[in-house]
Amino acid sequence: MTHQILLTPGDGIGPEVIEETQRVLGWYAKNRNFAFHTDTAAVGGNAYEKFGTPGPDETIAKAKAADAVLFGAVGGPQWDKLPFASKPEQGLLRLRKDLGLFANLRPALCFDALKDASSLKPEIVSGLDILIVRELTGGVYFGEPKETTTLPDGQKRAVDTQVYTTHEIARIARVAFELAGLRSKRVASAEKSNVMVTGVLWREVVSEIHKKEFPHIELSHVLADNCAMQLVRNPKQYDVIVTDNLFGDVLSDEAAQLTGSIGMLPSASLGAKQANGRQAALYEPIHGSAPDIAGKGLANPIAGILSFAMCLRYSFGRIEDAQLLERAVDRVLAEGFRTADIMQPGMTKVGTAQMTDAILKALDKLAV
Ligand code: NAD
Repeated sequence: MTHQILLTPGDGIGPEVIEETQRVLGWYAKNRNFAFHTDTAAVGGNAYEKFGTPGPDETIAKAKAADAVLFGAVGGPQWDKLPFASKPEQGLLRLRKDLGLFANLRPALCFDALKDASSLKPEIVSGLDILIVRELTGGVYFGEPKETTTLPDGQKRAVDTQVYTTHEIARIARVAFELAGLRSKRVASAEKSNVMVTGVLWREVVSEIHKKEFPHIELSHVLADNCAMQLVRNPKQYDVIVTDNLFGDVLSDEAAQLTGSIGMLPSASLGAKQANGRQAALYEPIHGSAPDIAGKGLANPIAGILSFAMCLRYSFGRIEDAQLLERAVDRVLAEGFRTADIMQPGMTKVGTAQMTDAILKALDKLAV
């Protein structure tokens, strides 16, 4: 079976990290019987330059037809002054919306070789492996009304609206419980049921789905502000955290920082499983387009490469192949290879392509 993969490199370091990921895809084709076909599509600032929109229809159509999208990054200072609807990030938001990617999976994994790079004490983060499941298409980022009006006295008044329905909460809860079933069977659900009615509904629906469908999984509820505190106090108490769009945005960035560098962390955004087994999926590093280092061969390619590992696991069910790639990354870090963002004294500083060279060599060694 030939997997159809769409590459959307985007802007800044996006094309650089996607190029490295393609080399890893090539390794899997050659050594692990991974049959795939790739196509490329424009998104972000470069799509705006070429097509006048950051999310062209053609890109959306190709993404819908693909089994998985490997996304680089979008954005850059040259597009900062564009109207809101033309900004590069709108290309990514359109992909998420049009593909119905409601579940955002962000692992926060601390590689042992990098435990000293965290801003927390090594013993707090050593062995850390948590998964944040964030609702991605609802909540306050999309709720209506969303507007700024001018009051009779000349003041301005801005309104965002937090909205959730039973269906939206139930489907993200199911994703979290199912994933917890493949891990250590614990879910913590974070909301603000003490002050928000959406939080009350969130807690009720998650509890209901748990009771009816996943009684074998351990469920705890935590207020989102307490969760933020616990993440820096004792993050290893968590396995899977499920939360809404806004809290998920904040908590997953906080969790990312626990692990050292933004250049290390992948993410997956998944849609609903359809009757024919298909599931829309987009994989991307959590970092942005890093305009400060773009085009210099300095970008850490690991977040992009680990996003492909997530793709192997979630879109293609190739768990062993995903683990192999994760072990290869672990190995090159243990061998002391470091891009500038994760450089530590006594280690070997490498650029983007050399880091991938080392990962490919590690794959060769581990695969025998
Ligand atoms: P950023 O993630 O691009 O960069 C933050 C810092 O981390 C920079 O110093 C950068 O050099 C460094 N960094 C990021 N990725 C790295 C990597 N792989 N290797 C080494 N160092 C890395 O965030 P920012 O500077 O806030 O945003 C830059 C642009 O990216 C903005 O236009 C922003 O809107 C956009 N952005 C896009 C996405 C996305 O495409 N999903 C996400 C976040 C930000």
